[in-house]
Amino acid sequence: MSPRVNSEITKDIPKRKLDRNGIGELIHIFKYLMPYKGMYALSMLFLFLSTLTALAFPALVGPLLDAGNESQTQSFLIRLLPNLPELNVNMVIKILVGILVLQGVFSFLKVIITTYVTEQAMADIRKDLYTRLISLPISFFEKNRVGALLSRITADVTQLQETFSWTLAEFIRQIMTLMIGASLIAFMSPRLALVMMSTFPLMIIGAMIFGRFIKKMSLKTQEELAQSSVIVEESLHNISVVKSFTNEAFEQLKYYTGIDKVVGYAVKTGVYRAFFSTFIVYAVFGTILLVFYLGVKQVEAGAMTNGDLLSFVLFTVYIGASVGGLGDLYGRLQKSVGATERVREILYEEEELILGKNIAPLDIEGNIQYKDVEFSYPTRKDIITLKGLNLDIKAGSKVALVGGSGAGKSTIIQLLMGFYDIDQGSILIDGKESNTYELRSLRQQIGMVPQEVILFGGSIRENILYGNPAATEAELVAAAKKANTWEFITSFPEGLDTLVGERGVKLSGGQKQRVAIARAILKDPSILILDEATSSLDSESEKLVQDALDKLMEGRTSIIIAHRLSTVRDVDQIFVLEEGQIVEKGTHLLLSELKNGKYRNFLQMQNEGASSNELVL
Ligand code: ATP
Repeated sequence: MSPRVNSEITKDIPKRKLDRNGIGELIHIFKYLMPYKGMYALSMLFLFLSTLTALAFPALVGPLLDAGNESQTQSFLIRLLPNLPELNVNMVIKILVGILVLQGVFSFLKVIITTYVTEQAMADIRKDLYTRLISLPISFFEKNRVGALLSRITADVTQLQETFSWTLAEFIRQIMTLMIGASLIAFMSPRLALVMMSTFPLMIIGAMIFGRFIKKMSLKTQEELAQSSVIVEESLHNISVVKSFTNEAFEQLKYYTGIDKVVGYAVKTGVYRAFFSTFIVYAVFGTILLVFYLGVKQVEAGAMTNGDLLSFVLFTVYIGASVGGLGDLYGRLQKSVGATERVREILYEEEELILGKNIAPLDIEGNIQYKDVEFSYPTRKDIITLKGLNLDIKAGSKVALVGGSGAGKSTIIQLLMGFYDIDQGSILIDGKESNTYELRSLRQQIGMVPQEVILFGGSIRENILYGNPAATEAELVAAAKKANTWEFITSFPEGLDTLVGERGVKLSGGQKQRVAIARAILKDPSILILDEATSSLDSESEKLVQDALDKLMEGRTSIIIAHRLSTVRDVDQIFVLEEGQIVEKGTHLLLSELKNGKYRNFLQMQNEGASSNELVL
């Protein structure tokens, strides 16, 4: 895996200190490797072996040069391993070829095993993250943006993948190279090693200074580019607004200004980069030149063999590359800690239900009572949305909630579904506190036909089966027929398998509503919630929907969130809501005759609406 590819995805991940806490975080996420610990240990062993074999090259190229020479006895290899027989060129070449073969094998096995282990561990993390996310309560999603959550599943996990498969291994490899390489050159020639090492601080300080400037500038470039993308996104999303105001030129100017700024910052970054690379060229080649110069003098003085000098220079290059790479790796590890922290934050959130646990089917009649219910949304604790609300809905009856926008109609329903906990009072279902029911069993008993029907990308069949994936084909067809969808479904050549959504056919508002009704019929709940569509359908479509709804409501407790009064005339009870309280209740007949009544007032407003005889609440 190339770490460069991922830098775009992972660029927003915050860096965290690599202190005790940071390392602790990383260790926590390591538990995902535990099921594969044997394999991971094996991959580490191959990493160790492939690093050793890689280091054998510079160590053996020198002796190759000295092989057969008289000076060979002074070479570092003979000094290090005095029992070594005298080496000749053939022998060294054979050893080198052997090592080359081994290195290839070790690297191959290392990559294969590491990929296997990390992919498995990452899949486990992704699965756990998604399972946790989908089991979290609605309130969590109100506090966190979906975009940010998506990034945790993609960017943060990609970062961790990079850590397990590449960064960590590379870190270990570089440290090993540094330690073994430094020890060997110190053994070859302590004086020369000291000179070489003394150039490091200068290089590190230089890299840090330039690095800081470059980072600052590229951050500015990125920010400015992001701003410009926002201009493009907003103007294209709202293209009709732009065009109707004939503001194309205005948007163009905004975009040009942004892009010109990007160029400015990017060129500045380029200048810093140019200085930096020149500095690195001077520093690296300067050091090598210096080592050569001093080394040749040592060779002339007989203090070093030619081969040792060659090995020394090669090790210098290896060590330099390791030191250079460590800074980048350190940054990556810091990011990994940031990613781990964010992933763990989700994994530690408390879920509202445990997936995988069997749900006991619930048999309820559908009596609903709200007793002095007080409620504030978790994100807006200062505003009381329901203020001591009382409701009594008999099983099998049909009621309507009527009230102006923001009165609290949807809130009542959300509480019934158990999306939030109430602050005071109680909600009883069949006389039992609703929160004593198993959440999923209860939700299975509540069907919903929402205002804005959302279909999943897939076939009509899949969308209807969403109500009950275990339904038989006969049940599915029966539900589709009952919901008045059969006629339009069979008019499509692919019938139930017709694709809907972005890549499929676009269903009309009324058709979508009927699919939602078919879904609800399949679910067969005791309690039904109908959130009436605000936009009115044409009369033909309206009739089909209404007919389907009537069939659906039969024998169930039905709560209609009414936006148009014309549809609630024949319900058993109307509840009029105002600012989170029930201010009136009764039948249409009763309420419409109540002097100065709110409902009567709504009706009058509706009648005064000259052009439209519907009042949208
Ligand atoms: P409408 O007919 O416009 O849908 P409604 O009667 O259904 O209105 P609710 O959606 O229940 O009204 O809203 C009641 C109040 O609670 C409003 O003031 C609304 O701003 C607030 N509210 C609704 N949902 C949330 C939420 N998720 N977080 C915070 N406040 C909310």
